Amino acid sequence: MNSRSLSFRLVTWYAGLLTVVFVLLGALTLLFLRNYLEANLLDIQARRARQIADTLLAAVPRTGEGALARQVEELYSPEANDRLIRITRGDGHVVYASQRPKDNNFDPGQVPLPSWSRSGEFSRKALLPGGALLVAALPYTPAGGSERYLVEVGVSNSPTEGTLRQVLLMMAIGLPVALGVAVMGGFVLVRRALRPVEQLGRKAEEITQHNLSERLPVVQTGDELERLSISLNHMISRLEGSIESSKQFVADASHELRTPLTVLRGELEALAQDGQLRSQTRESLGSMLEEVDRLAEVVEGLLALSRLDAGESRAHWVRFDLAELAASTADQMSLLAEDKSIRVVCEAAADVIVEGDQARMKQVVVNLLDNAIKYTPNGGKVRLKITREGTDALLEIADEGIGIPQQALPHVFKRFYRVDGSRSREQGGAGLGLSIVESICSAHGAQVEVTSIPGKGSLFRIRQSLANNSTVHAPP
Ligand code: ADP
Repeated sequence: MNSRSLSFRLVTWYAGLLTVVFVLLGALTLLFLRNYLEANLLDIQARRARQIADTLLAAVPRTGEGALARQVEELYSPEANDRLIRITRGDGHVVYASQRPKDNNFDPGQVPLPSWSRSGEFSRKALLPGGALLVAALPYTPAGGSERYLVEVGVSNSPTEGTLRQVLLMMAIGLPVALGVAVMGGFVLVRRALRPVEQLGRKAEEITQHNLSERLPVVQTGDELERLSISLNHMISRLEGSIESSKQFVADASHELRTPLTVLRGELEALAQDGQLRSQTRESLGSMLEEVDRLAEVVEGLLALSRLDAGESRAHWVRFDLAELAASTADQMSLLAEDKSIRVVCEAAADVIVEGDQARMKQVVVNLLDNAIKYTPNGGKVRLKITREGTDALLEIADEGIGIPQQALPHVFKRFYRVDGSRSREQGGAGLGLSIVESICSAHGAQVEVTSIPGKGSLFRIRQSLANNSTVHAPP
């Protein structure tokens, strides 16, 4: 599990807080329970002390202290009831003290005598080796008598401690179980609450400039997530609008530039026909024509890219043999290669059937072959290979040219990127050829990649799924 995920952090915090709350609650419960049980026990002992005072001590002036011990034994049987009863006279003489209790929980001889100068009843907890003893004490002076007595009734605190220990044990077992159930429940709830976030993230990953018309799923929960998905969709709409208008601008601008450039070219060609021109003017006209051609190429490239961005290439999808298309294109371009005495070797497997726009895929082969021929020195070799690999068609164009430096490889498919402005410009490139290749490939669901060794040559590889045997289906 990812320890930085929101669900993990929320559940960890929740578990931590819950543990603190449970422990505090448990400690308070134990504290209150102990106080309650002890107060209850002391209350019972105090009532018994009052009984002894009111019934037995009250009669002492008449009957004397001698009968006291027997009466206490008879009426209260302290040993059998595991209780301490002690009656002490004001001068410190113990008139009666019960013996060891039956359960042997304490030794009455070890219970210290309290100082009892105070007059009201009081209680205390005497700590003895066997455990604590809760003792209620009542100073009493019988009516008609001159002596003051202290009646003490005590009981061992061990049963209370035992009860508390049992409650503690129950808590020690019950709290982790309750905590575990609460944490698991919390985890399930958090996961459920965050599921829409995962869906939003997944969908957002899928949205690129090519499918900006798609929207994120709106979770109908009425909470922050619903508002977030609506806000993100509004943002995508705004982005779509501005990207569309900039695409439209490029398309319109390149379209508008096309005609004046054609006219300009025509005019310049017509001017160049003039036989009376000075050679210097003719040269200038020649270089102007070259520049106009380059400009026209850029405009055509931009137009092609803006149409591809608009998804135009998806309109004419058919099944065709990629090997056949590549071989015939190479054949058509052989003149260009012959000019530089470059040998184009074509190795084509049979029946490499793919789906797509044939004209666009031809453009891919043209652009790649054109580059391969352009950047290969005279007398070199360009190899074109079309094979099938599993369910894919593989188109490879390898040359023995100048190659592409390693640091330039990630950029060559970017618009207007040229490895070396001077060398490309000399050859007439504007840095749009490979961008067009990439756009066409991505519109066809194909991947294009390049490997190159400077000075040795480059290899462009395109991988496209073979058409399956069913009917042609245009991509969404
Ligand atoms: P251009 O039209 O300027 O050639 P591309 O988009 O076709 O633009 O290519 C981009 C850059 O990649 C070019 O500047 C060129 O230097 C380099 N490049 C493309 N293909 C090859 C190749 N086969 N061999 C060497 N360099 C190449």
